[in-house]
Amino acid sequence: MSEPTQEYSAMQSELETSVRLRFAPSPTGYPHLGNIRTVLFNWLFARHHGGKFILRIEDTDVARKVEGAVEAILDSLRWLGLDWDEGPYFQSQRLPIYHEITESLLQKGHVYLCYCSPERLQTMRQEQAKRKQPPKYDRRCRDLTQQERAQMEATGISPVIRFRTPLDGETTICDLIHGRITFKHDTLDDFVLLKSDGYPTYHLAVVVDDHLMAISHVLRADEWLSSTPRHVLLYQALNWQPPQFAHLPIILGPDRARLSKRHGATSITEYQKQGYLPDAVVNFLVLLGWSLDDRTELLSREELIKHFSLERVGKTAAIFNKDKLEWMNGVYLRKLSLDEFVQRAMPFLDRDLPESVKRPLDSSYVGRVLSLIQERARTLAEAPQLASFFFLDELQYDTGLLLSRELDAQSAAKAVTAALQHLEGVINWNATDLENILRPLAGELSSGTREFFGLLRVAVTGRTAAPPLFQTMAVLGKDKCLNRLNTALQLLSNLC
Ligand code: GLU
Repeated sequence: MSEPTQEYSAMQSELETSVRLRFAPSPTGYPHLGNIRTVLFNWLFARHHGGKFILRIEDTDVARKVEGAVEAILDSLRWLGLDWDEGPYFQSQRLPIYHEITESLLQKGHVYLCYCSPERLQTMRQEQAKRKQPPKYDRRCRDLTQQERAQMEATGISPVIRFRTPLDGETTICDLIHGRITFKHDTLDDFVLLKSDGYPTYHLAVVVDDHLMAISHVLRADEWLSSTPRHVLLYQALNWQPPQFAHLPIILGPDRARLSKRHGATSITEYQKQGYLPDAVVNFLVLLGWSLDDRTELLSREELIKHFSLERVGKTAAIFNKDKLEWMNGVYLRKLSLDEFVQRAMPFLDRDLPESVKRPLDSSYVGRVLSLIQERARTLAEAPQLASFFFLDELQYDTGLLLSRELDAQSAAKAVTAALQHLEGVINWNATDLENILRPLAGELSSGTREFFGLLRVAVTGRTAAPPLFQTMAVLGKDKCLNRLNTALQLLSNLC
């Protein structure tokens, strides 16, 4: 076989010494937290070292390809601001390269053609399972004579190509996180490199591309650790220098079970829809396996790039905690300027406020409303729910909320009447004036200040928990407040 295509060897020599990282997702589903944590670590490592970050789509498993997954991957990375310098490369467009490499391996005797039918392999695996043995190809085709091979060819079966794994000895890998790990060859299989449909397997394509794309460091999930000795054997067979490997700790739920939807973990696009901020998601994800020290939780992107190192990546599982993500998102929401918060929350209000609320929303009113919500929202998707009473014409609430231990229907009606009397004449409808009027009034009523304000809160917002009362009333405006107090009065008189 000739050397790898010229274009690639040129690229390789130029970049041989530089730091080049890659994210290599298989488009078999929408990207989830674990995938993006992997991207993030690769991206940060590349950016920290002034290296390059490459995106490669590993789409060689035609049967498992999911429609829309590639777009979801690209969208998620763009949304999170994790930019790439090269790619996306698609492995499905590089088949001749894998064929060329396989041919060279065949000529050197590192691989062999296997004619075993899927049915035979299945029966073999079932029998191994019965005997409680790990599934492993029995190597029937490993040493076929020329005559046997000719017979197999004559049957018309399209063969797969398998790697001739050494039968004894061992391979040691030096993982940047886990240290040295030795794998005995007799535990490894003669794994398939090229499938009968002409597509490479992951093992072949990943090694060929990491080499040709001059990847210097492979940071990937722990689940690939057991594949690494196979890859190293393949590098040796090809006479190539392997990259450095770092296998990242698995992410588990708080119950230490494999992370799933049940723990509140969803696809990244879903987090976007739920109103998380990209910076918060990035900050949250980096702490799943990495830490600056034992204390620091909040780190800007610049700080992350500056400080990221593999030395501080943990070996043990990282635990996902949805409450922490919400808390962190709230922190990032509060850090936004009001203008930015409004700009980001507006699409959520548009999407989720009840249909009865007229669109387009008045942006200056939205600004005043959101200035009271910003402190409280943990996600942008909470904003419409927290703010809906500001926009509705009529509130629906349980009349019982107007009452409390100290306030029966009669005394509540009396208190609302007094409030109405004091508020009707107010000219400057602002929070300070409203407080100056209502606080002394609370003192005069026998119900107590807390109960009185609680009653007013329910009357004007329909809820027991809402932003500060006087500011809320100021934003709602005089008409809305008086109307709502009158409605409350009516509801109370029905109870008397
Ligand atoms: N395509 C593999 C995946 O989907 C890549 C694993 C690796 O990074 O080597 O996770």
